[in-house]
Amino acid sequence: MPMSGAPGMVEMSNVGMYGSFPRHVICQFCGADIATRTRKEVGLFTHLVALALCFSGCWCFVPVPYCSPDCQDTVHICPNCGQVVGFKALM
Ligand SMILES: [Zn+2]
Repeated sequence: MPMSGAPGMVEMSNVGMYGSFPRHVICQFCGADIATRTRKEVGLFTHLVALALCFSGCWCFVPVPYCSPDCQDTVHICPNCGQVVGFKALM
């Protein structure tokens, strides 16, 4: 899978706001008719949940949001060209 930049860094300038599940779209980069491939990424919400657990004294649960897909953002990727075509941030 081609990756540009550091992991976790997503260029947000021309990507759409999608839901948490794969979507059927026309890729704005390669023009292909595709169903997006989704990937979970740590986002602001993930860090806030971890911070809240930290402050509430639940130290052993701090890694949980980093392992739970429900606490992470969703990135939509074109399976044809590998570009990020959409994004769903929890916050
Ligand atoms: Zn594409």
